[in-house]
Amino acid sequence: MASGSRLEDDTDIVQDRVADIGIIGGTGVYDPDLLKDSRTIEMKTPYGQPSDKITVGMYEGKKVAILPRHGSRHTIPPHKINFRANIWALKKMGVSRVFATAAVGSLKEDYRAGDVVIPDQFICWDRGVHTFYDGPNVYHVSMADPFCRDMRDTLIRAAGELGISFKDRGTYLRIEGPQFSTRAASKMYRQFADIIGMTAVPEAILCREQEICFAVVATVTDYDVWADEPVSIEAIKSVMAQNLKNMKSILERAIRDIPLDRGCECKDALKSAGA
Ligand SMILES: [Zn+2]
Repeated sequence: MASGSRLEDDTDIVQDRVADIGIIGGTGVYDPDLLKDSRTIEMKTPYGQPSDKITVGMYEGKKVAILPRHGSRHTIPPHKINFRANIWALKKMGVSRVFATAAVGSLKEDYRAGDVVIPDQFICWDRGVHTFYDGPNVYHVSMADPFCRDMRDTLIRAAGELGISFKDRGTYLRIEGPQFSTRAASKMYRQFADIIGMTAVPEAILCREQEICFAVVATVTDYDVWADEPVSIEAIKSVMAQNLKNMKSILERAIRDIPLDRGCECKDALKSAGA
């Protein structure tokens, strides 16, 4: 169980290296009991407050930090999430890999309710500017392959070994929310993307700018409105419960299996990106 909380200046934390792996959990994923010897830390950042206190502890010999994206009582809607504060706080704690979970709508027939998706691309369809580099330092990081190769491989292996129905790729379309799409928009989006959600971007962008490895485990809750299919709340609830179980088992195995030494390019994202 989490015990106590303390306020830390982020400069103390960075020397402390309190965590290696971060989990940004969506709806229902937040489970501090997963970690041994856990405690909660309240982080301050130049961008304001993260979504909540961050729980840190041990899992399978690794230092893990859990941040509930919408707050532990789910009070922060997607458009109010302080994405920069969340990523900055994890970076300052020493985190070099972030797994994020996301509940998504499906834009394609063969991405079915209950499927796990490990996306490999995204399209950002919003009006926001997402960056840590507002000047005077100017960087244009590459987003050609927006998700960490090694983390995706680890997640795909974990899902396969667990016998969970999953898609090993998919294009995630990001809308700002909090509203869902119109039918016309949904029909347009499905021409070029597979799933739709509100949070994996800008997290992917901001992690890349901090040279943090990032990957998403998405679970499909239902078809987006293009399908024109009536959906019962009961059906969604039962899919969500199963999704949650699947996501947790995949994440636990991936954390166990992911090496802390990084062989991917994410750690050098800024190297040739300066203007
Ligand atoms: Zn990486």
